[in-house]
Amino acid sequence: MNAARPDLIRKSSQPGGVTPNWTAYEALRKSFSWEQARRELGQPAGGGMNIAWAAVERHAQGTRADRTAFRFVDDAGTTTISYAQLSRESNRFANVLNTLGVARGDAVFLLAGRSQAMYVATLGTFKNGCVACPLFPAFGPEPLATRMKIGDARVLVTTQALYRRKVAPMRDSLPGLRQVLLTGCDRSLPMLPGTLDLDALMAQAATGFDIVATAEEDPALLHFTSGTTGTPKGAIHVHGAVVTHYATGKYALDLHDEDVFWCTADPGWVTGMSYGIIAPLLHGVTSVVDAGEFDAQRWYEILETQEVSVWYTAPTALRMLMRAGPALAREHAYPRLRFIASVGEPLNPEAVWWGQDVLGLPVHDNWWQTETGGIMIANTPAFDIKPGSMGRPLPGVDACIVRRDESGAVQVVEQVGEQGELALRRGWPSMLRGYLHNEERYQKCFAGELYLTGDLARRDEDGYFWFVGRSDDVIKCSGHLVGPFEIENALMEHPAVAEAGAIGKPDPTTGESIKAFVSLKPGFEPAESLRLELLGHARSRLGAAIAPKEIAFLSVLPRTRSGKIMRRLLKARELGLPEGDISTLEAGA
Ligand code: AMP
Repeated sequence: MNAARPDLIRKSSQPGGVTPNWTAYEALRKSFSWEQARRELGQPAGGGMNIAWAAVERHAQGTRADRTAFRFVDDAGTTTISYAQLSRESNRFANVLNTLGVARGDAVFLLAGRSQAMYVATLGTFKNGCVACPLFPAFGPEPLATRMKIGDARVLVTTQALYRRKVAPMRDSLPGLRQVLLTGCDRSLPMLPGTLDLDALMAQAATGFDIVATAEEDPALLHFTSGTTGTPKGAIHVHGAVVTHYATGKYALDLHDEDVFWCTADPGWVTGMSYGIIAPLLHGVTSVVDAGEFDAQRWYEILETQEVSVWYTAPTALRMLMRAGPALAREHAYPRLRFIASVGEPLNPEAVWWGQDVLGLPVHDNWWQTETGGIMIANTPAFDIKPGSMGRPLPGVDACIVRRDESGAVQVVEQVGEQGELALRRGWPSMLRGYLHNEERYQKCFAGELYLTGDLARRDEDGYFWFVGRSDDVIKCSGHLVGPFEIENALMEHPAVAEAGAIGKPDPTTGESIKAFVSLKPGFEPAESLRLELLGHARSRLGAAIAPKEIAFLSVLPRTRSGKIMRRLLKARELGLPEGDISTLEAGA
């Protein structure tokens, strides 16, 4: 960090003239209970819980009915939808599902980017008691099909273009996928075989719907995440998770009634679902949804013209804004902006300070993961920021650092400053309830009452947590968690590739960039033309989001004697770092 900078950014008591939702950290942590947060949120008349009831119906039947829930911004301008309209439209979608015989517990996959249809369909899915499974549009056909297979996809909601390019080529491998509902169809063209026109079905559907009476423990969401080995894991979240979304919207994002909130994440990832859809609706605020890709000029315009007051974004985006220079930022004014937060990857202190210097507000880093369903550790309005730290555990969250002793037992590390694995005491409402069809992997996440996060961290004397790294080989590229195994599999489908290993390389903007190493089958020789072909092959199968940017040839990949590719060693060699313990390395590698 810049030597002239202090280690602490002191909290102003009323940023933007608004009194924060909390100011006394210890006091609230002591008095807080999840039960009390649940009571504050309320319950449907018949009991139980349904995310769409809490997010939409409560407001649609109350004083916020006519308030704008979403402002969708795209090239054509801004389209708004009020809470009452959102209620009616999501009712229509729930009725469409009903008409098609899609029932409680069925998996509805959603691949429609940041379009109104995506948001409406998600909420209608909850209303019908189905499980919403969002997908990221920048995935290629293979990752999409893999996830739909694991998730037992029954219905897919998507656009004509996405279906044609990414799903149709794999449709034969998805026999369980019974209905594909396309939005925004070009009516001058015949419907693609095996698809239905969602907009036409919606137009015929009734606007009233009685929400299916779901219990707090009924599954609501399936979010895919990647590990080092094996296929992606489908993390199951329940309707009762809304209590976490509600409490964290209040304490970590400081949402207030009059806020205009902008979460820049795509709903295909957990942040775009928990905080792009659910949490802001729970608080009855207006959210901005930008359909476009990152563009510094446009982002500043959105912050200014939409009068965003609370902004939740990601370190990669912040670093790209920093690269675009302060002059661009200063061409605009942000008098309503009062709180900035970021998540997904380490936030360097420079980015925290950049917010302070250029926008007049520091960036509040926070930490969580797909499995936790909501923000767990955060910098908040209630205490000073230590730039570079992820902050402190939120009310109701009990975090610690653990280590395995010689016998393999997990022990809590009491020593301040000691590095170990970050763990959370189970019991928060949005904790995953399982990995679909993978109980064994789910059980491995726990040691008794502790959920093990897979992240390495340390805690300082003031209870702030500092991220150190991952304990496994997963890659974090532009805030997206990428499993090396999925990349290696796609490369090995090419006829020239004998073996493949993928690693993340530090990148000043995207955090990590993906590099793959391949060895070739007999009869193939390393050549520039083959390298380009492999890059193209990977991109067409995996999609831009997770395809490697670099590929290098090796005559043989380092493997352990038990046959596992030593990605750690590939990485050390690539970065010129010490090779560490190579006692298990196969001879000759
Ligand atoms: P995902 O499940 O895709 O949301 O990724 C979760 C992972 O992202 C965490 O386990 C961390 O490795 C990383 N991550 C999330 N937030 C932060 C943060 N504030 N600082 C450092 N790493 C983070």
